[in-house]
This record gives sequence, structure tokens and C-alpha cells, in this order.
Amino acid sequence: MDKQLEMLKDLTDVNGVAGFEHAVKQKAKSYLEPLSDEIIEDNLGGVYGKKNAKDGSKTILIGGHLDEIGFMVTEIDDNGFLKFTPIGGWWNQVMLSQRMHITTGEGKVITGVIGSKPPHVLSPEERKKPVEIKDMFIDIGVASKDEVLEAGIELGDMVTPASEFEEMTNKNYLLAKAWDNRYGVALSIDVMKNLEKEDININLVSGATVQEEVGLRGAKVAANKVKPDLAIAVDVGLAMDTPGMKSSNGTGDLGKGPLVLLLDGSNIGHVPFRKHVLAVAKDKDIPVQLQVIPGGGTDAGSFHVSNEGVPSLAIGVPVRYMHSNVSIMHKEDYQNAVKLVTEVVKSLNDDKVDEIIW
Ligand SMILES: [Zn+2]
Repeated sequence: MDKQLEMLKDLTDVNGVAGFEHAVKQKAKSYLEPLSDEIIEDNLGGVYGKKNAKDGSKTILIGGHLDEIGFMVTEIDDNGFLKFTPIGGWWNQVMLSQRMHITTGEGKVITGVIGSKPPHVLSPEERKKPVEIKDMFIDIGVASKDEVLEAGIELGDMVTPASEFEEMTNKNYLLAKAWDNRYGVALSIDVMKNLEKEDININLVSGATVQEEVGLRGAKVAANKVKPDLAIAVDVGLAMDTPGMKSSNGTGDLGKGPLVLLLDGSNIGHVPFRKHVLAVAKDKDIPVQLQVIPGGGTDAGSFHVSNEGVPSLAIGVPVRYMHSNVSIMHKEDYQNAVKLVTEVVKSLNDDKVDEIIW
């Protein structure tokens, strides 16, 4: 496995739902530190590397988000079954019979499964309906509540899908639980790496926010801290190339390039900034796909309304099976997204930023 793949594995295998990003943050920080003039941290857990402009006074913020979707343990019943509440958006149909990891306060990882009834006992009506999340439970394979407590599990512990990074049959197809949004965390690091030995004419702050999945919360803090002139949220978008996914939301085929979001539920991609990014892509021969995600948001939603207004755009890659235990990203889309964001940073200076802020 090459260094880049190793980092992608490292960042997707680590567990961290919103509010529990510490371990992911430490990993991101360890990659950013050697590449940055300075490390910037906000008080909720966001972490960013800064590379100073050689000649220029403006700042661009590139932000992924550290958190993934998961659950929190809310109840332990007398027989040792765990009840839980979702953190981030889950569809109940992708949850039953899945392996889960519960991380204890001391950092011990315990395997459990979301239990399901065998078909033999289901009525015709039950078979048609997804089970409600409130009726689901996790079985960690014990006989009593005492055994759960002895294992170190407490109310409030984090639950994440148990699903490891894997290269698939075609080595460009990469399987992992949390491309949303360790893709963006990795990208913010790889952009810093690409620019390590280059002079740039805009201050670059590149890293990751917290708590995106529960309402773009950490992005507000990040924007207040960094006070950027421009911002790019790097987050995943929809793959439209699987059976049943064709729609009018633009394109999103794996392997056909990164996504530039025209709009999502939280932000209208800043028009002059979007045009600039597309011109850079054309000039550098980087394929891009345009997408619209009317439901759901990205950190661009919080970035753009911060301070006195920050022209913001979301740049993603198409990801299959987003918000489930298993998501698939195409390696070349990732590499082209890194290239695109790198070239955008290189293209910016004080005059260009003034031109974009119309
Ligand atoms: Zn998400």
C-alpha cells in the first residue's frame, strides 16, 4: 500500500462521531504538523494547518469534517442489551444485523451487532416495514447488565459501524465506513503536502471542523476563529451511477472527476468563486462534475454566513452508499479533487480574491 492509501486507511478506520472527534483530531494533527507553519485549533476540536502567503494578505479556509455518523448508548437493559440514539442521519433499512463498535470511556473497543428477528417469525405486514430505530438494540454477547458494566460500557459511549478500509476488485474502488468525511480530512492534508515546497500568495488554512453531521456546528466556530476571505468545504457528494439512483440532480459517476456543488440545502455555491474554480479545472485539464443536492448541507452552509460573509463553495467526490456502514469512493476522483483544490489555492492572490468578492 502506498503512503496515500495508508493515510486513507488510517483516517477511515479511526472512530469518531460528532462530539467524539478526539482520536480523529489527533491523527489529522499528526499529519498536518510537519506540513504547516502553524497549527490552529478551536475549542471544540477543529484542527487546521496554516501555510503563510509569501506575498498576500488574504486567507482561504479549506475544511473537511472530522466526525462521522454513528450512535450513542442511551440505555442498558437488565439482560445486557443496549439501546441507542443516532448521531447524524441514518436510514433504518441499512442498520439491522450490522456489526458495531462501542468505544468505552477508556478507549476499549467492543464489538456488538444490531439484533434482528428471523424471517420465520415476521408477519407479512412486518416484512414490508423497516424497523424503527427506537425499537432496535445492540447485542454485545453477554448474559446480563452486570457483564456490560464490567466490560466498561457506560451510558453516553460512542457507537460506530465496524467496517474496515479495503481496496476492492478494481483497485480504484475503495471501501470504507467513513468517506463522509475522512475524504475531506485527507484532502486537506494532501493539499498541504502538495504545496509544502511551493510559494503561495494567499494564506492557506487547511484542516477539519467538528460536528458537521449534527448541523454544521463546528464550521461556525472554525470560521470565527480563522476569519477567512474565501472558504471551500470539502465533503462527499452523491454517486448517481448505481441502479435506481438516476435523477435530475446533475452528474456523479465514480471515476469521472470531483464534484463542484452548484447548490446544496445550506449554500448556493458562490457564483464568481465557482466560475473561477471551473476555469482552473479547465485550464489544468482536471475533470469535474456538477451536482445539486437539494436536501442536506455541507460546512459551506456555515462558512458563507460567518463574519461579514465568506464566498464559499463545496467540492466533493461522488460516494456510493453514503451514510451507511459501507461507502465506496474512486481513487482517481480523490486524486483529482486534491489536484483541483491545490491548483485553486495556487491561482489565488489579493487581486483575484477582490475580483471574486463582487
Ligand atoms: Zn454526512
